[in-house]
Amino acid sequence: MTSEKQIGRRGFLTAGALAAAGTAAGCCPEDRAVGPNVHTAERVRWRLASSFPSSLDTIYGAAEVLSERVAAMSGGAFEIRVFESGEIVKGLDVMDPVQTGAVEVGQTASYYYKGKNPALSFDTCVPFGMNARQQAAWLMEDGGLELVHELFADFNIITFPCGNTGAQMGGWFRDPIGSLADLNGLKMRIPGMGGDVMNALGVTVQNIAGGEIYQALERGVIDATEWVGPYDDEKLGFHQVARNYYYPGWWEPGPSLSFFVNRDAWDALPVTYQHIFRAASQEAAAAMTGRYDAKNPPALKRLLDDGVTLRKFPDDVMAAAQEASRSLMSDEAAINPSYRKVYDIWEQKRKAAFQWFGTAELAYAQFAFQ
Ligand code: CA
Repeated sequence: MTSEKQIGRRGFLTAGALAAAGTAAGCCPEDRAVGPNVHTAERVRWRLASSFPSSLDTIYGAAEVLSERVAAMSGGAFEIRVFESGEIVKGLDVMDPVQTGAVEVGQTASYYYKGKNPALSFDTCVPFGMNARQQAAWLMEDGGLELVHELFADFNIITFPCGNTGAQMGGWFRDPIGSLADLNGLKMRIPGMGGDVMNALGVTVQNIAGGEIYQALERGVIDATEWVGPYDDEKLGFHQVARNYYYPGWWEPGPSLSFFVNRDAWDALPVTYQHIFRAASQEAAAAMTGRYDAKNPPALKRLLDDGVTLRKFPDDVMAAAQEASRSLMSDEAAINPSYRKVYDIWEQKRKAAFQWFGTAELAYAQFAFQ
């Protein structure tokens, strides 16, 4: 704790000097007239509504990292107060209040809002899509985020990737899935396009926010649920109700979460703070992904020690799911021009990424990970 405080103080002093220098360099001419000696950094106070419960230091933790780093880098002048799911906004309703400006920032998954435009799913992930590294490369370095921003311009929102869970697990099932036929009539919590695919395979699909899933599973409202992976899932307690833990989560091979920012609030932000926000969001993203990769291995071991049964989805489920995914995507592309635009480019990038990752990365993993 002491060292954190010391770092915080150093960060405050350094950031204060930087903010003054940035202002003197021309971001606010009216302030420059009075000189840096009497300059006070502009105070900005934002609220962030998260889709996630505060118990999950992985995914929700990224919002806390954003808040802490933005405050530290701005010398305390730029504050982002973080609210967990349900505190000021319901977990799956984060987009609307960001769009209207009722809150300035949201932390959520774009695919929760596929009802507004199914193309928003590409910002998070689609079934049988890219893994975490491929998704980050596409978004950050290969034009993906520009396409996503075009989609979100319709909603007065700009997005920033805030971390990736890595390939997810397939979730918790009360009873084993012997074959494709066992999915028929099953009630499962699964969001995004994965839910559409499961629906095509006969599953009755529900989307429930993270903090409310356990109750639904325990009460028998659902027979199965997925969330993320061993660490989060253990915290949410699903293994206490359902004991069959399936893999892989073919619908979420590398989902990227997002900070949504109201466009007017963003445009009104001093340029220095925009740089701070971008840098802090990347720190948050690195923290989220790193935490998952560090915390999942021991959590998986604990679950196995507890007697949970690890099961792989049957081949006929995987094959049918892949076929249904491809057909749903091409159907949507045929009727939705904005979807088609992203899909055509994304599909090209996916194929190239799979070819490359299918060489050295795959050969190494197959040999060494077993
Ligand atoms: Ca999931």
